[in-house]
Amino acid sequence: MARMYYDADANLDLLAGKTIAIIGYGSQGHAHALNLKDSGMNVIVGLYPGSKSAIKAKESGLTVYAVEEAAKRADFIMVLLPDEVQKTVYKSEIEPHLTEGKVLAFAHGFNIHFAQVVPPSNIDVVMIAPKGPGHLVRRTYEQGEGVPALFAVFQDASGQARDRAMAYAKGIGGTRAGILETTFREETETDLFGEQVVLCGGLTALIKSGFETLVEAGYQPEVAYFECLHEVKLIVDLIVEGGLAKMRDSISNTAEYGDFTRGPRIVNDQTRAEMRKILYEIQTGQFAREFVLENQSGKPGFTAMRRREAEHPIEAVGKDLRAMFSWLKKA
Ligand code: NDP
Ligand code: MG
Ligand code: MG
Repeated sequence: MARMYYDADANLDLLAGKTIAIIGYGSQGHAHALNLKDSGMNVIVGLYPGSKSAIKAKESGLTVYAVEEAAKRADFIMVLLPDEVQKTVYKSEIEPHLTEGKVLAFAHGFNIHFAQVVPPSNIDVVMIAPKGPGHLVRRTYEQGEGVPALFAVFQDASGQARDRAMAYAKGIGGTRAGILETTFREETETDLFGEQVVLCGGLTALIKSGFETLVEAGYQPEVAYFECLHEVKLIVDLIVEGGLAKMRDSISNTAEYGDFTRGPRIVNDQTRAEMRKILYEIQTGQFAREFVLENQSGKPGFTAMRRREAEHPIEAVGKDLRAMFSWLKKA
């Protein structure tokens, strides 16, 4: 069993008196900045002029600088920009200020692993990747808990890179829940695989296909929405709480029997072969190249797909239904 590290394994003193720059103040950025500040660290935020997020950061009592100025002032620079803009911002505004002894950190290994960012050899390069969205990283911290995180060292110039990464993980509340060591390669490849095959790509395709099949067969879209989308959360909550077994304990015997006998026909050998193909595209950098080129060419496919997906009937049905349920708004 891989070792989990907790609060007692990490030393926050390693960051005491240091300036930590959080570059970007979105989902992850706001959570890291506020948690570190509440952990007693000296935090500044780096953003571009006119950034919407800058207003929020200032309202929360944080000092905001241009990215370049923040990178210059900081000892520890955490890059929490969208992955596709990191290369450009790094090159023009961060790299010139990476003097010896600084730490450059990421919450996802994409740009380092796929060589979009190539840091100088005299700094530490680490990753602290919470395994949850930013609002949860913040909310759990405020409740005295944390979101589990992965950490990794890409480059250790100081001899302290690993301890510094663990200290940062403690500062954002990660060691309260437990942190696990990984490598940039492992985190990058498994993260991309998880979001493409299971969490985002696989799940949305499953929901949409189920919905379409019922609607095509003449059932009411509202009923199809409840069966194929709304109930996902109820099932997933049970699985997260107590594994597949707890969910299966809670559903009817009819549902459980249908699960065992029909599930493997939906995710079958052909699906598994496709999963291996997708993993191979990730491992060989084919997906990374596609994503980088898509962004460089102004996101033509990305924009078209966003538009097409937003127009899917399941979204219109869901919008109307959710508006009718006041209990859902509060949840
Ligand atoms: P968001 O899109 O939520 O936030 C990006 C932030 O960067 C915003 O504050 C945005 O400002 C700012 N920004 C955008 N462009 C620039 C620029 N050119 N210069 C300066 N600031 C800029 O990003 P995420 O938090 O989702 O992702 C950050 C990193 O964390 C990524 O590496 C991602 O893979 C990783 N990660 C994300 C998770 C998540 O749950 N979202 C989970 C784990 C890791 P504005 O809004 O004002 O434009
Ligand atoms: Mg990801
Ligand atoms: Mg049912």
